[in-house]
Amino acid sequence: MSKTQEYIALEDSYGAHNYHPLDVVVSRADGVWVWDVDGNKYMDFLAAYSAVNQGHCHPRLVKVMAEQMCRVALTSRAFRNDQLGPFCKEVCELAGYARMLPMNTGAEAVETAVKAARKWGYTVKGIADNQAEIIVFAGNFHGRTTTIVSFSSDEDYRFGFGPFTPGFRILPYGDLDAVKLAMNPNVCAVLVEPIQGEAGIVAPPEGFLAGLRELTTEHNSLLVCDEIQSGLGRTGRLFAFEHENVRPDIVIIGKALSGGMYPVSAILADDEVMGVFKPGEHGSTFGGNPLGAAVAREALRVLVEEGMVERSAELGDYFMKRLRAISSPHVELIRGKGLWIGIVLNEAAGGARRFCEALQRDGLLCKETHETVIRVAPPLTITRDEIDWAVDLMARVLMAP
Ligand SMILES: *Cc1c(COP(=O)(O)O)cnc(C)c1O
Repeated sequence: MSKTQEYIALEDSYGAHNYHPLDVVVSRADGVWVWDVDGNKYMDFLAAYSAVNQGHCHPRLVKVMAEQMCRVALTSRAFRNDQLGPFCKEVCELAGYARMLPMNTGAEAVETAVKAARKWGYTVKGIADNQAEIIVFAGNFHGRTTTIVSFSSDEDYRFGFGPFTPGFRILPYGDLDAVKLAMNPNVCAVLVEPIQGEAGIVAPPEGFLAGLRELTTEHNSLLVCDEIQSGLGRTGRLFAFEHENVRPDIVIIGKALSGGMYPVSAILADDEVMGVFKPGEHGSTFGGNPLGAAVAREALRVLVEEGMVERSAELGDYFMKRLRAISSPHVELIRGKGLWIGIVLNEAAGGARRFCEALQRDGLLCKETHETVIRVAPPLTITRDEIDWAVDLMARVLMAP
């Protein structure tokens, strides 16, 4: 048995079977590259769902992480620590919001946004008790907690997990008329991914976000953007909502906020919204801890100082052009923004999984989404030469029968 097979056997025997990963067992990583336990080298085209935008084991992040964990890792919010204040200030100044509330995982930050929006609905907007509604969209992915899967439109995410949290209304993604019709005085918020990542890197029709901004303003509701995957440079802007020049009332961030070193998430908002939380009403033992705060501060500095947002825009365009030049009988279309690209296969292609497995054999790790889309989301540190290497390989695999 190869080492790879041994590790897979262990995981299969003792781990819960709640994932269907590619059969690669990673033991080391550096930048865009990862190595498996048998010494094979791969380029990482998933970047942990965009959590490692800054590249694996970025030396600046490794250094800060090591230094901070030797000083102090966790205080809980019962005490203060010397990293949280600077972290709040730096994120707020970068993103242009008044306040930040730190959590750990993305799902927790989404939950935080849901609680903030509801409480704002009751205490500021004046919605009657327990009547608040949040509008969400089909194809959404916002995480896996029971409340969040309550408004998923994917049966796999929901089946067997009810009873569900009420108060959510699912509308077709991109359909402004449906939102217009659904708007009513009980709507406290519209929660949206500016581009749906897990759905297959699906951008809504142009003007959708701007339209949501207008409708929410007109009906005194909050616009909440989940930028956990689309944010922090992935689409060639710091936030994907910038492509439509809107400013949401709540921004949810996570994943690349820590460069993949440690779970750090947050919501950003101004005083009117963030002011709804009083001491004791929300929190987390690890949220805002000094280790996470220190590494997130450095992860944001790395993102800005190394020009990763601009790189994503420029290299994303180049990548897309090169991919579109491949003439493959299997490809229906190629879509995306920045270094976030979906290769959509046609019906006859027989699913994306077999292509991901072929790419893996040749040294490129891609993960399919929704059966027919090959997702391309490398670390934003990828170079033009590395893109050329990958495109040549992809062309070979996509042009084979
Ligand atoms: C990954 C993701 C989440 C959930 O984040 P976790 O850290 O996995 O809980 C929520 N929303 C979006 C858009 C995501 O991509």
